[in-house]
Formats: sequence, structure tokens, C-alpha cells
Amino acid sequence: MPLRGVRQYRAGDPGSGPGMRTFRYERASTTSGAVALLAEAPHGAFLGGGTNLVDLMKLDVARPDLLVDVRRLTSDRVEELSNGGVRIGAGVSNSQLAADPLIRRRYPMLSQALLSGASGQLRNLATAAGNLLQRTRCPYFQDVTTPCNKREPGTGCSAIEGHHRDLAILGTSPECVATHPSDLAVALVALDAVVRTEGPDGERVIPMTELHRLPGPEPQRDTVLRHGDLITAIDLPPLAFAACSYFRKIRDRASYAFALVTVAAAIDVVDGVVRDVRIAFGGVAHKPWRAIKAEELLRGGPAGEDQFRRAAEAELADARPLAGNAFKVPLARNTMVRTLLELLEGPR
Ligand SMILES: Cc1cc2nc3c(=O)[nH]c(=O)nc-3n(C[C@H](O)[C@H](O)[C@H](O)COP(=O)(O)OP(=O)(O)OC[C@H]3O[C@@H](n4cnc5c(N)ncnc54)[C@H](O)[C@@H]3O)c2cc1C
Ligand code: SF4
Repeated sequence: MPLRGVRQYRAGDPGSGPGMRTFRYERASTTSGAVALLAEAPHGAFLGGGTNLVDLMKLDVARPDLLVDVRRLTSDRVEELSNGGVRIGAGVSNSQLAADPLIRRRYPMLSQALLSGASGQLRNLATAAGNLLQRTRCPYFQDVTTPCNKREPGTGCSAIEGHHRDLAILGTSPECVATHPSDLAVALVALDAVVRTEGPDGERVIPMTELHRLPGPEPQRDTVLRHGDLITAIDLPPLAFAACSYFRKIRDRASYAFALVTVAAAIDVVDGVVRDVRIAFGGVAHKPWRAIKAEELLRGGPAGEDQFRRAAEAELADARPLAGNAFKVPLARNTMVRTLLELLEGPR
């Protein structure tokens, strides 16, 4: 089915311009139908709000020959689960999710993360699933005239010797130092959310901490999803102390900018002792970075600035920054300390 209201051109057609690419557009009536459509199209892709994928198509970075529109196919509802958790339909818009009363009350860091990203218009279109699977903002990835192992495996990484100020300090590889751009994903990782998928091999439940990959020798693979895996929902487990959680984003300007460093955190302190804590960093790695070492150091000990600083330093001890982004190490440390101190002061 042709894209409604859009004339399809083939390269060489009058008015097509050099290299204009054609693609098919389909809407399935069921999730299994959508999965089946994509299973037959190795170069096809699901389409959510299109705010990232269509941009990448315009830049010639993504070249799908089939788009399967799933925006209205998956649920657009936020629902309470019988275990006290919350299910977010994959098609819920970023605006709707940020404004949802259940989310704002129980998991405020999620709402804060969403509202710190993109713009009102983009958030109205963007879906929860699409947000998690948006691609890196490394400038070379988006510029098809430069070598980039993520875009074209084996061509090299332009960022390592080039502009890498915004890129990763943890978990990098000689092949890629990109960061993952989603703010929502960082909050979901801190909350131990899981992603539900339906694919050619059936249904899966994937912990958010395992959805995104470190680059290793295969930076072209952002996640553990297989071709044709459709995200249908995201489940948040019950976590009472997440009602007092906070997402802090450090960026070059106050709005409409991707993160330099983010921290998503929740802490449960009783009589000055840390009973439980959740911390994740964004803007520092190829995946949202759960601060496991810092959490382990803090649990069961006193809550205070010195302890928060030591825990942050332990987490960042493995950082391997490049010449242009070493500032991110103290920035990440200070952001974590400040975020936890603000949480100690009480609900925001
Ligand atoms: C100028 C600008 C600034 C931005 N700033 C920020 C920011 O600060 N922070 C931030 O987090 N984001 C930011 N964004 C990114 C924005 O949030 C994403 O573009 C958006 O969330 C992607 O959602 P979408 O539904 O439009 O995805 P799409 O563009 O439709 O899809 C993205 C990817 O997800 C796949 N996909 C979509 N739905 C599914 C599904 N159900 N199952 C499996 N695969 C699926 C697609 O195939 C594609 O690969 C910005 C974007 C722009 C353009
Ligand atoms: S950091 Fe990754 S995305 Fe950026 S140029 Fe290098 S390989 Fe490409």
C-alpha cells in the first residue's frame, strides 16, 4: 500500500532527484500480522511516531524498503497491574506517559526524564517503544560521508580521533564510543522495568538492564532484539520508594538538547541508613548504565555526602574517557552526589 498522500518515486523518475529511495508502507490489523510482515522483509522496519526513523531515512542513514506502522497497533494505555506494578503500552505517546497521574505519583523520575527530552510536538508523536530504540546522536553516525562502524561495519570510527566531547566514557570498545540517547531508558533501567516483545520466535520478556548492548566488536547492534521483534509493552515493578525519585539531566542548554550526563535515582533511607537505592547514568555509555557497584556500596550504610561521593567514584573507576570528554567523569560523579543529596531532603 503506498504511503497515503505521498507520491512514491523510483530513482530516476522525473522529479525524484538523485538517489531517491522507494519504500512500501503497511498497516497490520494485529500484532502477529505486523510481525509476519516484517519477518518477510529483511530490510523492513517498524514505524512508531517516525520522529527518529524518518529523520534517519531523510539523511540516507536508514534505508528500509518496508515500513510497518505500529503506532496505533500496540496499546496506548497506562494500566495498573495486579501485582501493584504498571504496564505501559508500546504505543503510549511520550507526552501522555509524562502526564499520566499514576506515573507522576509512583515513578516521578520517569515523567521528569520524558519532559527533559525533545520538544512538546515531538513528544506528542513519539511512542514509548520508539523512544527506547532511537539511534545514537553521534554526529558521524548521521553523516554518510564519514566512516562509522555502527552505520557501516568495518569502515572505522571517526569519533575516536574526531569530535567525541558528547560521547561515552564507560564500556566503550575500539570500534565505537557512541552513547545511547534515550532519557526514558535510563529511568526504566533504574526502576528494573522489563520490556515485553512479540517476534517470529514468540513472546519474550527482557529486563531493561539487558535490552541495550555495549558496542564490543559489533557496534551496529544497539540491542538484543532480533529482526521482527515488536515491543508491545513495558512493565514497571512495584517499588514504593520510587515515589521519591528524581531524574537530573545535565546538557549544554536548558531545553531541546541531548544529555551530557543524566542520573536517575531513588533512595530509601530509614534512621540515616540506606535501606535500598537505585541509580542509573545516561550519556556515559552505549547503553543506560546501571550503577550496580555504587548501589552495593551504599546499601546498609549511612546516607551522606561522603558515602555518595565514594560510591560514585567506585562506579566510575572503570571510566576510560577520551581526550575531549574527560570532564564527564567528575560531572557524572557530582551529578550523582547532588541527586542523592536532593532526594535526602525529601519529595520534590
Ligand atoms: C530534535 C530532537 C531532539 C530530541 N531530544 C531528545 C532528548 O533530549 N531525549 C530523548 O530521550 N529523546 C530525544 N529525542 C528523540 C525522540 O524522543 C525520539 O525520536 C522518539 O522518542 C522516537 O520515538 P518514535 O515513536 O518517533 O520512534 P520511530 O522514529 O518511529 O522509531 C524509532 C525506532 O524504533 C523502532 N520501533 C518503533 N516502534 C517499535 C515497536 N513497537 N517495536 C519495535 N521497534 C519499534 C523503529 O523501527 C525505529 O528503529 C529528540 C528527537 C529530536 C528529533
Ligand atoms: S562512535 Fe560509534 S557511532 Fe560514532 S563514529 Fe564511532 S562507530 Fe560510528
